[in-house]
Amino acid sequence: MERVYNFAAGPACLPEEVLRRAASELVCYGNSGMSVMEMSHRSHDFEEIIDKAESDLRELMNIPDNYKVLFLQGGASLQFAMVPINLMAKFSRVHFINTGMWSKRAISEANKIGEANVVASSEDKTFSYIPKLKKEMFTKDADYVHMVSNNTIYGTRYTKIPDVNGLPLVSDMSSCILSEAVNVSDYALIFAGAQKNMGPSGVTTVIIREDMIGKEPDNTPTLLSYKTHAQHGSMYNTPPTYAIYILGLVLEWLKGKGGISAINKINQEKAKMLYDFLDESKLFKGTVRKEDRSLMNIPFITGNADIDKQFIEEAKKNGFVNIKGHRSVGGMRASIYNAFPPEGVKALVDFMKKFEANA
Ligand code: PMP
Repeated sequence: MERVYNFAAGPACLPEEVLRRAASELVCYGNSGMSVMEMSHRSHDFEEIIDKAESDLRELMNIPDNYKVLFLQGGASLQFAMVPINLMAKFSRVHFINTGMWSKRAISEANKIGEANVVASSEDKTFSYIPKLKKEMFTKDADYVHMVSNNTIYGTRYTKIPDVNGLPLVSDMSSCILSEAVNVSDYALIFAGAQKNMGPSGVTTVIIREDMIGKEPDNTPTLLSYKTHAQHGSMYNTPPTYAIYILGLVLEWLKGKGGISAINKINQEKAKMLYDFLDESKLFKGTVRKEDRSLMNIPFITGNADIDKQFIEEAKKNGFVNIKGHRSVGGMRASIYNAFPPEGVKALVDFMKKFEANA
């Protein structure tokens, strides 16, 4: 069977070159005589794999030396708990910007550890925009600020980093990491589940400034402490070895593409193709305020649930799969992460034009 255009929000499509390389190395990796899946995480071969993944990520994101890179398990969702456990050290309080379901889940976890104070929210309009923020909202009586850089479900993104009044800033970059340049020094901690822009599910990347490590209470379970993972190079226990190996291949692929600025240019072009069409279409329309539009997740609707359903069905028959919107919002959503090919976006727009002409 031919490969389809897979618009899934995550796990999402991976670069075909990466899949083919992994296939060629699946049974026997290098001179090891075994698969990466069969290797000890303490072996020389695997140490090389994890070290290279870390150094490529540092190079791509320009991560300063005073930050640790951790490869953890438990998904981005475990970070909703680990961040407050480790960072709510002084005030037991965190300022949140509520921009959707992944903020709400994090708020709920933070409220189990201390107090989550929501300073701004876009819930009044189904999270279709990023709230306007003022420095004064971020009073000094909180340990940190939590934001979600790109909102996978609603398709919004911050186009500039908020001024959080000098507080440590934590960002969930699960659905935009590596898609555009960020200045890592602006953040105290960045986390991202890999399964959108970095690799397969099973590994979560945490980039943490060193002074944020070691603030957790003494009774914190060992695996929930950043200190444990930082001290052991993400190898206190068995890390998700195969997922880290694929993540490494994705990073190599991205370097080969020219890095983040080069892929960002392509991402801008891909998103523009679809947004331009949505802006001129009489049938389809985007759901997000223009200035807050995501480059990675593009939700759209026709305004008629029956036509949406018909569109999703016909799209699938034509090789455009996983284009249904999240169950909480309906409509359609095209997730077009780094690995999604520009020709797939063009093909989708052509298909949408044809569908509209026949509607
Ligand atoms: N944050 C964001 C922005 C997400 O998009 C997702 C998953 N879609 C999560 C967190 C949760 O990630 P996980 O399933 O890895 O726990």
